[in-house]
Amino acid sequence: MSITNEACLAHLQGMVRIPTVSNPDSRLMDFSKFDELHDFLRTSYPLLHQHLTLQKVGRAGLLYHWKGTGRSGEKPLLLMAHQDVVPVGDEAEWAHPPFDAVVENGMLYGRGTTDSKCNIMAEMEAVEELLRQGYTPDTDVYLAYGYNEEVMGGDGPSAKKIADTLKDMGVRLGMIVDECGGCSDGQSEKVDRPVCNIVVGEKGYADYALIAEDEGGHSSTPGAESPMVRMGQALQALWAHPFPYRIIPVVQENLSTLAPYSTRPEREKELLGDIPAHFEEIVRELLPKDRTMAALFHTTMAPTMIKGSDQANILPTRVTCTVNCRLLPGDTLESVQQHIQSVMPEGITVQLVKGTPASPLSPTGSFGYNVIRSLCEEDHPTVITTPSLMLGGTDARYFYGVCDHVYRFSAFYFENNWGDAHSPREAIPVSVLDGGAKFFLRLIRRYATAQ
Ligand SMILES: [Zn+2]
Repeated sequence: MSITNEACLAHLQGMVRIPTVSNPDSRLMDFSKFDELHDFLRTSYPLLHQHLTLQKVGRAGLLYHWKGTGRSGEKPLLLMAHQDVVPVGDEAEWAHPPFDAVVENGMLYGRGTTDSKCNIMAEMEAVEELLRQGYTPDTDVYLAYGYNEEVMGGDGPSAKKIADTLKDMGVRLGMIVDECGGCSDGQSEKVDRPVCNIVVGEKGYADYALIAEDEGGHSSTPGAESPMVRMGQALQALWAHPFPYRIIPVVQENLSTLAPYSTRPEREKELLGDIPAHFEEIVRELLPKDRTMAALFHTTMAPTMIKGSDQANILPTRVTCTVNCRLLPGDTLESVQQHIQSVMPEGITVQLVKGTPASPLSPTGSFGYNVIRSLCEEDHPTVITTPSLMLGGTDARYFYGVCDHVYRFSAFYFENNWGDAHSPREAIPVSVLDGGAKFFLRLIRRYATAQ
């Protein structure tokens, strides 16, 4: 195999140096940067661009198609990621300039290094190498890269357009692999051995506006009624009525599978080993002190933005508060809105601003799931494989109309030394880069070669 760490690094650095920042308002995006990225990909991966057909979807979405021999009965494979990155925030907080792709002490720093240009690099590196080896897949392989994942699709989700394009072409996919999840040393899962975390679904996303209206006027004569105070009461009511905790099968399977190998205190291991039997104790003892775990057991509601009048001496005519909710499978955009409205004091209306429901849960044990699992088990003989539910969202959620086996799985072996995505410390260890590319190479070979 001639995938080299040097080439992987150089290509990822090149991508990071092109600031493809997305914005909820696409008119404020600099699409020339995306054009530049496309040019960079074309020159970095010449065989890929020679042998795969590229369809541009919308302003900057990319859909590559690698035609297979047709000798395999499996449906096509789609590998994806997203081209866009979040803004840098306060540049003064960065130890290294966010778009310089500096390497220091074995880490590559920069916006997009982990989220998710590393995935574009690894997928393309794999295809390029397979072509160099003269390989042709027996089933079709697609690569898809949207441009507004970080703004939840902004004013028109690029990934949804790509999914619609596949649907219009009559393509039905056998497996999708998107960012997140992956194989790790188990530290972040609090487990004493490697964990292969295959994400089979994600929570829904919804913004609701709480609205209190009033006549407004001069702040020197406030009167007895204040929409701002009413909003304060509304938020207290919201806080006092969280969604009840409940068990869904994927969360139960995830926590119970890991429990025997857990580095948690004995008491916690015992509780998590049999969740239905210990549910009340888990709710009482564990969830109040572990907010990540708590989010796996119910739909969350987080007030995030509040707005009154525009000036200190103006009484507001309208106070709005945005409540960001993450929906556990089983709750719907409508049922969550009803719950919020039902606990509001009089004079507060609730509107859905935007939202997508929780994704379906893809099955464990499909052909594709087992391919991922077998590759991880070869690399790490003691690995524990488990399905999981994601708290955040990915572009993969748009593809359930064309695929039943939608997984999120990062090809890079994860240890707790990465710099957090979206933070001014975003960084990836250079040593893992070629491993990610080789993982995708093996994944494509195993999935797309006729048995
Ligand atoms: Zn991402």
